[in-house]
Amino acid sequence: MTKVVCPGSFDPVTNGHLDIVERSARLFDEVVVAVLVNESKQGLFTIEERLELLSEATKHLPNVSTASFKGLLVDFCTANGVDAIVKGLRAVTDFDYELQMAQMNGSLTEVDTVFIPTSPEYSFLASSLVKEVAKHGGDVSGLIPDFVNTELTKKYELTKDA
Ligand code: ADP
Repeated sequence: MTKVVCPGSFDPVTNGHLDIVERSARLFDEVVVAVLVNESKQGLFTIEERLELLSEATKHLPNVSTASFKGLLVDFCTANGVDAIVKGLRAVTDFDYELQMAQMNGSLTEVDTVFIPTSPEYSFLASSLVKEVAKHGGDVSGLIPDFVNTELTKKYELTKDA
């Protein structure tokens, strides 16, 4: 049994994330999508909301579950019997940072990192960019699941009213 983790902020989950999660679910026995709780950075969606959106988006994948974690990813891996970390790579700009992280994590514990290259149609996709476009009324359908789009629109409508 190989258990892997796909870590990230998922604020909110995009089709780029889901592409990586779905491909991981085909390659490995068990996949945990883990939302990083970053106390110094307030996101648009709460951790609970991100987890709900992720559960909905992955409900068709029986070997995928969701979790959240604070602190070091390697500690989450040790505590949960995770064999490897899966990261999506969009472009060379991701590579430098991800290589450094992978090597640091590998030096802290024996956990390995597996990189999966993004499908080309998602290589420009990042949650931050989706939020920026949606905030200004741009059309992000096709980049995120429909129900995520509905929640994103609600968030920005609420912000406008405030
Ligand atoms: P974002 O950059 O969208 O805020 P996260 O911090 O949630 O993403 O990233 C979680 C993981 O998902 C990272 O490994 C990141 O490289 C990967 N990822 C994010 N967007 C994509 C994408 N469009 N294609 C492939 N991997 C992606």
